[in-house]
Amino acid sequence: MLALILLLALATPFLPLQDPNATATAERFARPLSPDHLLGTDHLGRDLLARLVHGTRLSLAMGLAAALLAAVLGSILGIVAGFLGGRADNLIMRGIDMLMGFPYVLLALAIVAALGPGLVNALIAVAAVNMPFFARNIRGVTVALAGREFVDAARLSGMGNLRIMAVEILPNVLPVIVIALTTTTGWMILETAGLSFLGLGSQPPQADLGSMLGEARAALISHPHVAVVPGVMIFLVVMSINLFGDGVRDALDPRLGAGAPTRPLPATVVDRTGPPPPSQAGHGALLAIDDLRTEFRIGRRVLPAAGGVSLSLGRGEALGLVGESGSGKSVTALSVMRLVASPPGVIAGGTVRLDDTEVLDAPLRILRGLRGRRVAYVFQDPQGTLHPLYRIGEQLTEAIRAHQPMSLQAARARAIELLRDVRMPRPEDRIDDYPHQLSGGQRQRVGIAMALANDPDVIMADEPTTALDVTVQAQILALLDQLRRERGLAILFITHDFGVVAQLCERLAVMYAGRIVEEGPTAEVLAAPAHPYTRRLIACVPAPGAGRRRLETIPGLPPPLDALPPGCAFAPRCHRARPACSDGEVVLRRTGMRAVRCLYPEAAA
Ligand code: ADP
Ligand code: MG
Repeated sequence: MLALILLLALATPFLPLQDPNATATAERFARPLSPDHLLGTDHLGRDLLARLVHGTRLSLAMGLAAALLAAVLGSILGIVAGFLGGRADNLIMRGIDMLMGFPYVLLALAIVAALGPGLVNALIAVAAVNMPFFARNIRGVTVALAGREFVDAARLSGMGNLRIMAVEILPNVLPVIVIALTTTTGWMILETAGLSFLGLGSQPPQADLGSMLGEARAALISHPHVAVVPGVMIFLVVMSINLFGDGVRDALDPRLGAGAPTRPLPATVVDRTGPPPPSQAGHGALLAIDDLRTEFRIGRRVLPAAGGVSLSLGRGEALGLVGESGSGKSVTALSVMRLVASPPGVIAGGTVRLDDTEVLDAPLRILRGLRGRRVAYVFQDPQGTLHPLYRIGEQLTEAIRAHQPMSLQAARARAIELLRDVRMPRPEDRIDDYPHQLSGGQRQRVGIAMALANDPDVIMADEPTTALDVTVQAQILALLDQLRRERGLAILFITHDFGVVAQLCERLAVMYAGRIVEEGPTAEVLAAPAHPYTRRLIACVPAPGAGRRRLETIPGLPPPLDALPPGCAFAPRCHRARPACSDGEVVLRRTGMRAVRCLYPEAAA
C-alpha cells in the first residue's frame, strides 16, 4: 500500500487530473461518482480527486522532510553529546530537556505563531518538536559505543573527533536512526496535517490533507464525503507507514525477531522421541549419563552438539573429559542440570540419573533443589560467574542461603570459612571486595568456593584453569584434588589439557564432534591410546625432556555439526581410515575398563 501511495505521489504531475485549484461555484458539493468528478467536489466546486492526489503528495513531502530534518539534527546532537560527554553533553541534553518540557503540540503551535503560518514554518515546527526524541535515543546508543575498544583504537591511530564520529560511530548508530525514523514518520505526517487543519500550515488555495479536512469541517453534516475523502487517505498513509516502520524495526533489530522470547527458559526443553533407553553405563553410579542427545534447533537447522553421550561418575571419582573446542564438552555438562539455553537448545534423547532420580523428568522445583545443592558448576571464566556489582561476600551468602535457611551472620561466617577452604588469603577482608578487586586466580577460587557452598556431591569443572597461569593452575588443581579426597566429591573435569587430566583424574573420556570416542583409566589411555584421534591429540602435547621431535598437529578441521560425515566423524582426518569407516554407525565397544569407538583401533596395530 505504501508503495502504491508513493507511486501515486511521484506520478501526480503526469496524471490526467483536473486543476486542483479551479473553482466552479455552479458545481459545489457534487456527490462522488458524478459524471465529471469521480470523488465529487468541495464547497468551491473544486475536483476532490485532483485535490486529494495533490494534497497527498504535499503532505507526504512535508512529513518526510520534517522527519528527515528532525533525524539529521537530532542525530548530530545526540552523537556529539554522547561522544564528547562532560560539559558539551550537559549543555546539549539540558537544552533538549527544556524542549521536551513543553507539551509538544503546544510548542509546535508556539513556534508557528512566532514564525508566522505557512508550509515551511510548519515543517520547521514539527521537526523542532521531534528532534529531542532522536537526540536522546541516539545519545544513549553513542554513550555505550564511545567507551568501546574500537573507538580507543581509532583515537590511538590519530583520528580526530569529527572523523571518529563520522567513520566509527555513525555507521554503528545508523540502524537505530533508521528504526526511529521509520517509526516516527507517520506521526510527523499527522502533525503537519494537524497544523494545516488549524490553518497554520499550507495556505489556500494549496491543498494538503490537513487543510482539506479543515475546509470540509463546516460542511461535515450536510456533505460528509468532502471530509471523508482526505480522512481516509490520512488513515491509509499513516497506517501503511507505521506498519512499514514496524517491519523495518523487526528486520534491523534481531532481538525482536518474529516473537522469539529474548530470555532463555529456566530449564532446557526436553523433547525426547521414543522411550528412554535402558541404562547401560554404571549401575549404582552417583551420576549416570546415558545416550544424552542435546541439539540446537535454529530455524530449520538442527545442530547435534551432543550426539549420544554416555558417562558415569562414581562417588569421589574424578573423570576427565577431553576434546577440542566445540566438541560438545560444555553442552554435555550443562545438559546434566538442564542449563543449556533454550531456545535454541533441546535435549532430544537420553537419560541423566543422579542416584536414582531421573533428572530430565524432574519438575523445575526439584531441579532447582538439585542445582548448586548436589551438582555444582565451576565455569571457565569466573568473571562471568560473578556479578560485577555485588561484593563477593553477598554473592556467596546468597548461594548458601538459596539452599540452607540460615541467618545472614551465620551465612557470612560460612562464606569466610569457604574462602579459607579455597586458600583465599585474608578471607575476612576479601569477603567485602568486589570481583574486579580480585586477581583472576582469586576470582576462580571464589567460583570454586561458591560451587562448594552447599557441599555438593558432584562438581562440573568446565575448564576452570584454562584462563589462569600455570602456577595458579597447579594450586587450584591441588585444591580440587584435596577437596575430592576430604569430602568425597565427584568431579567431572572438562579440559583440553592432557597434563591436567593426568594430574587429577583417574579416568578420562575423549570427545569428538559430540560423541565419546574413547574412555578408560588415564594412565592406560595415555600410555596406549586406542582411538587414532586420541593418539594424535596426545602427540600434539610437547613433552619436555623427550628430545627433539616435530610437534604434530592434526590436519583438517572438526566437521560442522549439521553436516557430520556418515559413520565415524573423524574418518576424513584419520590416517587409518578405510572405506568401512564411513559406511555406517560405528559403535562404542567396551572391553573391561576401556571403550573405543573405532573399527581399526591403534591397539590392534
Ligand atoms: P566445548 O567442547 O568447547 O565446550 P561446546 O559444548 O560449548 O564446546 O559446544 C559444542 C557445539 O555446540 C559447538 O559447535 C557450538 O558451536 C555449539 N553451540 C553451543 N552453544 C550453542 C548455542 N547457544 N547455539 C548454537 N550452537 C551452540
Ligand atoms: Mg566449553
